[in-house]
Amino acid sequence: MNKNKAEKRVVDASVLIHSTSLGDFQYLAPNSVILEIIDSRAKAIVESAIRNNRIRIEDPKEKAIEEVRKKARETGDLESLSDTDVEVIALALEKNAIVISDDYAIQNTASQLGLKIEVGVKDGIKKTIKWTSVCEGCGRTYEKKVGTCEICGSRIRKKPT
Ligand SMILES: [Zn+2]
Repeated sequence: MNKNKAEKRVVDASVLIHSTSLGDFQYLAPNSVILEIIDSRAKAIVESAIRNNRIRIEDPKEKAIEEVRKKARETGDLESLSDTDVEVIALALEKNAIVISDDYAIQNTASQLGLKIEVGVKDGIKKTIKWTSVCEGCGRTYEKKVGTCEICGSRIRKKPT
């Protein structure tokens, strides 16, 4: 897997809470993510990462937030996404960054916006998810990008492989 350290990464709260280390990367996060970290051990890790400029706090602009909401409405993920989740995706969209999250709705929306995704694992952030397009109706899989299923006309969802 190609791990380019120069690439920007936006991280969500659950990944920060469950990470015992942050790997060698630099991260971006909206304020709302930092505020969600209550656990004292996780808070200590995150605060020290902020002090060392490993995590930079930045909030996405309204335009990016709107674009994410619009896409999430299309994919049906909007009701599963918190305002913080939307900000995570919006910040990644604005910075053309990789999204790091274990949340399916975040992953799906980000992926549909053309963003790269990584999942968080306990010993640091490692895995990159690969996606296939699957019809919600008949289960047919597509290699190319299609809006709706050519067979049954149902919605296409991306699924991690
Ligand atoms: Zn179908």
